[in-house]
Amino acid sequence: MHPLRSLILAAAGNDAIRRLVATAPVSRDVVRRFVAGDRTADAIGVTRDLVASGRSVTLDHLGEDVTDAQQADLNVRAYLELLDALHAEGLSARAEVSVKLSAVGQKLDERVALANASRVCAAAEQCGTTVTLDMEDHTTTDSTLRVLAELRRTWPSTGAVLQSYLRRTLDDCVALADTRVRLVKGAYDEPESVAFRGHEVDLGYVRCVNALFAGDGYPMFATHDPRLVRIVAERARWYDRKPGTYEYQMLFGVRPDEQRRLAREGETVRVYVPYGSQWYGYLMRRLAERPANTTFFARALVSY
Ligand code: FAD
Repeated sequence: MHPLRSLILAAAGNDAIRRLVATAPVSRDVVRRFVAGDRTADAIGVTRDLVASGRSVTLDHLGEDVTDAQQADLNVRAYLELLDALHAEGLSARAEVSVKLSAVGQKLDERVALANASRVCAAAEQCGTTVTLDMEDHTTTDSTLRVLAELRRTWPSTGAVLQSYLRRTLDDCVALADTRVRLVKGAYDEPESVAFRGHEVDLGYVRCVNALFAGDGYPMFATHDPRLVRIVAERARWYDRKPGTYEYQMLFGVRPDEQRRLAREGETVRVYVPYGSQWYGYLMRRLAERPANTTFFARALVSY
């Protein structure tokens, strides 16, 4: 991993840096570039605009690594409120939700996370939409896939996320190729014993694209990488996949012109929209991905 990336991801876990960044007033403006806002109403407003522009949405209520049951319950309630609002606004056909199991109790007990995620899946079904389980660091992969398998017994459309930087992932793609899977490169600082580095991550991504297209499932290719977007398009033609039998996904605030271009060409494009006050970990992962974002952030802090 690039040293700057490791440094930023290490800073993400440092409480003193967290306090410094979170209390700098300028942070709010910088955060707005990547985060829809604090409230459910902010998330709904951004969703409405994206849907009007021909894009679909997956919404993430920010929060992770929860260590008390009360906070896990509050996070579930935030999703229930969001799902109600999406339904009331007539947006649920184009908007699903993304849930991190660590936000709903995975660190307390896997069974707590399963029970809480089930509440979100049941509400999503009631509202005519579905859930994708975000994937976190490699120590949680097996647990997350176990919870996913349980959820799919009742809600088969629940989405998985697989990370091409993990050495294990091609096997996971083959195993899950008949289901709904989001493929990403991976955003955590992983040891070399479990994760590829550099170009190998991209090669792994392409191998996984092939494995997912070879199945009967619904692959969701989440990347901003222009080369990988081109390769997905070429592979879709090779596998005779029509738009609508797979989709592209990108993050809110990242390459919006490319999102619109793909949508104009008839592709399904889903934008991952985070909202809520717990934006710190999310923002640090975005900064770690791209030095240009870090410079933008540092400049904004300095010029304040
Ligand atoms: P990178 O290797 O970061 O970038 C490759 C190239 O893409 C760059 O060289 C540049 O040309 C272009 N690019 C990238 N960013 C920008 C930018 N800001 N502006 C302009 N060009 C840019 N990770 C997880 O670990 N778990 C998850 O559950 C998860 N869910 C995700 C959901 C979605 C919808 C997306 C898009 C990402 C998700 N991620 C998740 C993050 C993912 O793992 C990567 O960290 C992130 O997408 C960056 O990788 P990349 O494929 O975009 O390519």
